[in-house]
Amino acid sequence: MSTHNTNPPETRCGFIALVGAPNVGKSTMVNAMIGQKVTIVSPKPQTTRAIMMGIKMAGPTQLIFVDTPGIFKPRQRLERAIVKEAWRGFYEVDYVALVVDGSKGICGGTRHVIEALQKEKRPACVIINKVDLIKASVLLPLSQELYDTKLFEQVFMVSAIHGDGVQDVVNFLSTKAPTGPWQYPENDFSSAPIQFLAAEMTREQIYLETEQELPYSTCIETEEFEEKADGSLLIRQVIYVLRDAQKKIIIGKHGSKIKHISETARKELESTLNRKVHLFLHVKVKDNWTERPEHYDMMQLDFPK
Ligand code: GDP
Ligand code: MG
Repeated sequence: MSTHNTNPPETRCGFIALVGAPNVGKSTMVNAMIGQKVTIVSPKPQTTRAIMMGIKMAGPTQLIFVDTPGIFKPRQRLERAIVKEAWRGFYEVDYVALVVDGSKGICGGTRHVIEALQKEKRPACVIINKVDLIKASVLLPLSQELYDTKLFEQVFMVSAIHGDGVQDVVNFLSTKAPTGPWQYPENDFSSAPIQFLAAEMTREQIYLETEQELPYSTCIETEEFEEKADGSLLIRQVIYVLRDAQKKIIIGKHGSKIKHISETARKELESTLNRKVHLFLHVKVKDNWTERPEHYDMMQLDFPK
């Protein structure tokens, strides 16, 4: 008579940080691995300010992808807070995935991570992203150079934006999760409260719709957040800017810019949350918000002294 093992399979759970230079596609990769948008993306560096965690179930394994801000040389206080947050992601996880922009190669922030891995000897893999932009003649020497560091168990080549090679990375990372209980309910896809996701969706549109220093001069505060009886959400947010001229730009001619930002952010949020959202935005000038601790709390960052 055959015996069947009726015990549930052993659960595994792993925190995996995606780290690297700004703009290499860490957030795009996290969204691609989760299969939906959990963290915001723009062509501008420092779009990601605080750690965002996306959750993916792979059979009995829960993978928690820790999206981190880019690593660069910080100057102002907000930049110091952002880079500190990125290193926190690096040090507090089970496994590190260094993301490299294949079209840029090994530069600044990538080198800092490589040096940290040399010192720390942490288990890691490397993901060469944006392979859609490069030829094999560039890709192969780059992957060889990364292999030669002997820091990485695997070198992956992906196009996060097209999804190419993404599943291979997920399969590999699933084998790296240690045995242990799941940290989040099975159906969760993000560790962030909905209020924070909503604020991030608005910030993403500001990054996409405004130029130069303006996106870096903004932060979002949730003024009101209410779940209606019909399941819809009512959200009021304040967009803080540093100067009156910035307020005018965000509002736009006859309010056209803010209307567009609010409509697009609302649609993104509705599709991520799969529920109706009523989003109201207004803009306030606060000339010193980047020097005020309470704004770092809103951004879920530590206030660096
Ligand atoms: P992060 O700063 O490392 O989180 O980078 P993001 O995920 O915000 O992406 C930065 C920019 O690179 C965005 O404009 C993305 O659309 C773009 N990007 C990300 N992945 C790819 C990719 O695989 N191919 C190409 N061509 N662009 C990508
Ligand atoms: Mg990012």
